[in-house]
Amino acid sequence: MQIRKELTEICHKVYDKGFVSAYDGNLSVRLDDQKILITPSGKCKGEIAEDDLIEIDYNGKLLAGNGKVSTEAKIHLVAYNKRKDVSAVVHCHPVYATAFATVGEGLTHPVFPEVVLALGKVPLCRYATPSTDELPDSMLPFIDYAWAMLFENHGAVTFGKNIKGAYFRMDKLEHTAHTLIAARVLGREKTLPRNKLKELYDIAEEVYGIKTDKRNRMDF
Ligand SMILES: [Zn+2]
Repeated sequence: MQIRKELTEICHKVYDKGFVSAYDGNLSVRLDDQKILITPSGKCKGEIAEDDLIEIDYNGKLLAGNGKVSTEAKIHLVAYNKRKDVSAVVHCHPVYATAFATVGEGLTHPVFPEVVLALGKVPLCRYATPSTDELPDSMLPFIDYAWAMLFENHGAVTFGKNIKGAYFRMDKLEHTAHTLIAARVLGREKTLPRNKLKELYDIAEEVYGIKTDKRNRMDF
């Protein structure tokens, strides 16, 4: 099945990129209104095979496959249950994005024009004990509009309309965090001027037809 192949390939990519180590992370796609295809617990994403992927329902119950459902499946379920426009979820622990999450800083200021449009505001979800309901609950303040979030002292999650879209957001998030850390070695980053930010949103809407949700717009 094409979708299994695609999800498996993206799993290998996130491992090769260093977005996860050992058994970390989990990735999924919405198959239909009954089923989600997701990585099982305890498998290295760099070694995962198509047959390792499991199918679960929207309550996290195992429907098909031999693996065990990850306790972090709750991150995926809250996204699919609350957002009809989300059809893929990527949760990783990438070094630089997680560094921001560890100092308690979301990426919410406008620094790079393309990031303003491609990622929007990346809020910080307050620390929650992994595997408990605290973790999906910590996403609730932002779940209606965000396409990428940081988990305090933990990692990051990105959403997409398909698995490639969710993966590219994770890639962009990590690249942005890396660049910001490099900039801070040299000094402090400058944010975009307020009038230029408005210009950017106007161009995005008029020229590219990208409508930015007002809640997703960057802060000063
Ligand atoms: Zn995690």
